Amino acid sequence: MSKRLHLIGFAALLMVACLLSTTWPAIVAEEGVIYYILTEDNEITLRYPIRMGGEVLTREVFETLMIHKVDRLNEIAEKYGAKWTHMTAVGPWFMARYAEEQSADWEGLYDALIEQVRRGSAAGHEYAVHPHAHWDPRTSLNAAIWDPEKNGFVDSWEDYLSWTMGFMKVGDFDDLESSAGYLYDHKRRIMEITRRETVVHRSGGWQFGNTPEQQIISLTALKMNGILANSDADANLTLSGNAGRPFQESTYFTAIDSINERSVSSKEYGTLEFTPNPLPILSFESNSLAQLNQKVDQAVAAYTDRSGRIKPGIHFITGFGHAKNIMGGDGTWSSLEGGQFDVIDQHLAYVFEKYVNIEKPLIRFATATEAVLEYYDYYSERPVAVRGDEERQVADRFFEYPIRVLGRFGPEFAEAEVQPPIWWDARTDIAKVEILEGGEVIAVHDRFESSYPYLAFPVKPRTKDQSSKDFNYSMRVYLTESAPI
Ligand SMILES: [Zn+2]
Repeated sequence: MSKRLHLIGFAALLMVACLLSTTWPAIVAEEGVIYYILTEDNEITLRYPIRMGGEVLTREVFETLMIHKVDRLNEIAEKYGAKWTHMTAVGPWFMARYAEEQSADWEGLYDALIEQVRRGSAAGHEYAVHPHAHWDPRTSLNAAIWDPEKNGFVDSWEDYLSWTMGFMKVGDFDDLESSAGYLYDHKRRIMEITRRETVVHRSGGWQFGNTPEQQIISLTALKMNGILANSDADANLTLSGNAGRPFQESTYFTAIDSINERSVSSKEYGTLEFTPNPLPILSFESNSLAQLNQKVDQAVAAYTDRSGRIKPGIHFITGFGHAKNIMGGDGTWSSLEGGQFDVIDQHLAYVFEKYVNIEKPLIRFATATEAVLEYYDYYSERPVAVRGDEERQVADRFFEYPIRVLGRFGPEFAEAEVQPPIWWDARTDIAKVEILEGGEVIAVHDRFESSYPYLAFPVKPRTKDQSSKDFNYSMRVYLTESAPI
């Protein structure tokens, strides 16, 4: 046979083999899942005290916005097994630290902020990255100015640049004044406390970038930091914060240079976008009880078929708000009872009774990261590997973690990449990483050029009948003598 005929014969054999066994990639027509993701932007605002009749951000206001209101929201959600995803600005933690150096009245605030995150994470809520570099005395974009006479912060200007649109470069992990470095700082500081993987992001002030060039900077920074999903589409162009999309158009793999457009492929994409939905958005801070309930009813109608079965696939209800803007009954900034807190409580009770606590639940409460991983597992046609949170200490300075390889992908993908725990700097803290499958070492890495590197390892294709949980990949991390434990 000629070389050409050999090729045709080989192709025919491959086709038969595929038909006989299973095909890649294929979406199974099983019943789908609807996840209800409660997001809020966990931050301060310098304008807040002014709106509320004050003229300065005092310790009391700060503490109410980022600690007491967040605790209160967590407490309400926990009654129904719901989980908040707190998009957390880390810069204000450093405002707190700065203020502690200026005034004894502010002492202990930094530790109290960290403890809030520890407490909420332990109860199952997610703390995710939300870069707002203009509330961060460590950056040149900082607009929070300490006023010694007022014993608090005032703002120096109204228009701000919070992330990519301020730094205008991808940069690297060692450069705080860059998109990748600032994001790395946020994710690392959060995960040092929570030790739970977080793979989602929302830009401060929706400043993901407007032009393709700006958006590629942001998308590259996300990718470098192991961030798999973003929540800014459309709002990044209008900066209104009120953008939203109809349920079935709000969650998708994006084009490689725009979060506002869908990718045509589930093999090549920029990131996963999960925009708040529907249009207008489900808003925990401004919707009435009737509006909140009605939007969830609409979601269930959109995501189920005529017989009431959930349509195949992974579906998101992505609610939106800011803890700082949720007002109690008396309308003062400090109230934590009544008002919108009661509305949220009654809304979650409604969802729990009608859709969650029933024989065949139609809605599951989930953090954004939990839902995003399931989305990838179902829809991605390229392998995406993530380290699991379960940590096993095998010996002194020797830890083991599971790895999940998400996606349904064919044999053209022979490799995936995974990152070690971000709270260690791989260059100085990690001596060696072994990657295993079923207990057998399949890859070894012992030279790291980055603090948070991607480590390649071979993967087997996944057929339509298999779940990512059928595979047994894991990672062993051997620390250096000098690594902090
Ligand atoms: Zn924000």
